[in-house]
Amino acid sequence: MQYTGNILKMDTDFAKPVQYYLHIGQEKIHMNELIGRKIHFKFLNEINCIACGAKTNKSFHQGYCYTCFTSLPQTDVGVLHPEKDRSHEGISRDMEWAKQNSLVDHYVYLAITSNLKVGVTKARQVPTRWIDQGASKAIRFAKTPYRKLAGDIEVLLKDHVSDKTQWKQMLLSGPSDINLKSEKKRLAALLPEELSQYLSIDNRITEIMYPGTYDFSKIYQQHFDDSEEISGDLIAIRGQYLIFRQGFATNIRRHNGYKIEMNIS
Ligand SMILES: [Zn+2]
Repeated sequence: MQYTGNILKMDTDFAKPVQYYLHIGQEKIHMNELIGRKIHFKFLNEINCIACGAKTNKSFHQGYCYTCFTSLPQTDVGVLHPEKDRSHEGISRDMEWAKQNSLVDHYVYLAITSNLKVGVTKARQVPTRWIDQGASKAIRFAKTPYRKLAGDIEVLLKDHVSDKTQWKQMLLSGPSDINLKSEKKRLAALLPEELSQYLSIDNRITEIMYPGTYDFSKIYQQHFDDSEEISGDLIAIRGQYLIFRQGFATNIRRHNGYKIEMNIS
């Protein structure tokens, strides 16, 4: 089977295990079915902006051309840095977009990825956001009516919890004994009163199971900026990484908009 087209970050269904779908051109491929199969990817040396479709030599903010990167609301400063979002003051590259995406319920969450991490997401992106980050477990920490407030809470917590995920540790990490409920309680005590009113009373812990198994003590990354061709036997998927028996992983999200030829044997 051969497919050709631009790829996008994988869509997911939250099931046990997570179901993954890769968009390539017009096709949508159920990746779980390919576990155990040999996949050969070839980068056709073309990147198309995921917003306007223009050819771009370099991808900005995971898939945009430079023009879109500097003009679209999807790549505005508040997307990457929620605490800098100003749409609640009426300041945004596109207020209509902001009404749908920034001035909506957000969660501050705690997740176990490579370590305990704090993050911010639109409420409707739960649990997609956690899956994309490769989290094994997550808990809602606070719920806010717009993005900037969630960013403020995250900034406060960053002094106590990382907001980063180390991809290698995430892919190699086994079960963790971090207790999310007690971490939430510990961190909740750090919030000043004006922010503690947003603490979430929802203490459910979401556990995420990823498809496939592997037992590596080390792993490396292959990406299309370095090697035009990537091939191996798919044995697992976690986050947005395809994991191959040969001991490496490829981050699909990093290649949003890349034109790829994919062969399955
Ligand atoms: Zn563009």
